[in-house]
Amino acid sequence: MKLVVQVRLLPTPEQAAALEATLRAANDAATWVAALAHTQRVFRNYDLRRHVYGQVKDRYGLAAQAAQHVIKKVADAYATLHAHVRNGNLGRPGSARRERVLARPIVFRPGAAQPFDDRCLSWQPDARTVSIWTVGGRMKGVAFTASADQLTLLAAHRKGESDLVCRDGRWFLIATCDLPDVPVRAPDGFVGVDLGIANIATTATATATATGTGDGVRHSGKTLNAVRHRHRELRRRLQAKATKSAKRLLKRRRRKEARFAADLNHTIARRIVTEAARTGRGIALEDLQGIRDRVRLRKPQRVTLHAWSFHQLGHFIAYKAARAGVALVWVDPAYTSQACSACGHVAKNNRPDQETFACTSCGFAEHADVNAARNIAARGETGWAVSHAA
Ligand SMILES: [Zn+2]
Repeated sequence: MKLVVQVRLLPTPEQAAALEATLRAANDAATWVAALAHTQRVFRNYDLRRHVYGQVKDRYGLAAQAAQHVIKKVADAYATLHAHVRNGNLGRPGSARRERVLARPIVFRPGAAQPFDDRCLSWQPDARTVSIWTVGGRMKGVAFTASADQLTLLAAHRKGESDLVCRDGRWFLIATCDLPDVPVRAPDGFVGVDLGIANIATTATATATATGTGDGVRHSGKTLNAVRHRHRELRRRLQAKATKSAKRLLKRRRRKEARFAADLNHTIARRIVTEAARTGRGIALEDLQGIRDRVRLRKPQRVTLHAWSFHQLGHFIAYKAARAGVALVWVDPAYTSQACSACGHVAKNNRPDQETFACTSCGFAEHADVNAARNIAARGETGWAVSHAA
């Protein structure tokens, strides 16, 4: 399995200046190549390289490898864009949005990610340093921070290119690790994960257990929602101003909020997977497409944020489960919130309010999210049984 490890660089001011000049040169070159590709209608890596390779090296002071990566980056960006157009993600032919996007060449931000291969970047995990090619020459001993787990991964499994990226003045390297697959253990029952807004994730097994292990655990969204609320308030105040500094501040806050949400999602995913591994259970998750549809029915202005956050949490759980050899099943999320986990009766008025589930047929009552998680766990068990019947 592939795993992405992101480490933060701690460059000295001189090192930071060299990194900044390098990333700027690479992205200026990429923007120039992209403009040329756009006017000449040349988009393939090989063709582009024939056109621009020499000039990219000379005009922007890039080494051979860096120049090749710049050209490939542009070709990849256009390939992605054209795939979006083909799949209709930018609207129908002739739609305003599609025409607007296609009319302009792709532009790369000065801090946009740039790939470095092993010839341009070498890692010293023990010393927690990297040596990296810059426009000012090879730079040795650039320090980075990483957890013990990340260091082990980097030392044993790092492969291929790493991306250098600058966000809000902070420097990161994003490395890819290729790990051997862990065999999935046959699960002893399933824990279902219900995703929501008041409670980000609620876990429960299909039936209540005597010991209650891992049953009906709610991971509250209170702190996250408070952060989001503060951010919304700030946005309301700053949007009235619409100055450049207000926009910059908003952007920084948005990223800070995203980092907070990602950290929280990592913590929740780790807890859910650790508990499933400890109890020998599998994990049942709602199918992501379903989550997006379900959320779309509610508050439209918050949809993208929550859908994105749910998607991320699902992704974190899936890869942590794969690493731990925990079985994972995606289930159809239809009616998981309206169906009774005790008798199966489905009715809208089984939900007298947001928090409560009370079955109008058998009288079973439970927290609404726990009831939904139970249904998801039951569907996980069925899904696993069906796919492993042979
Ligand atoms: Zn019932």
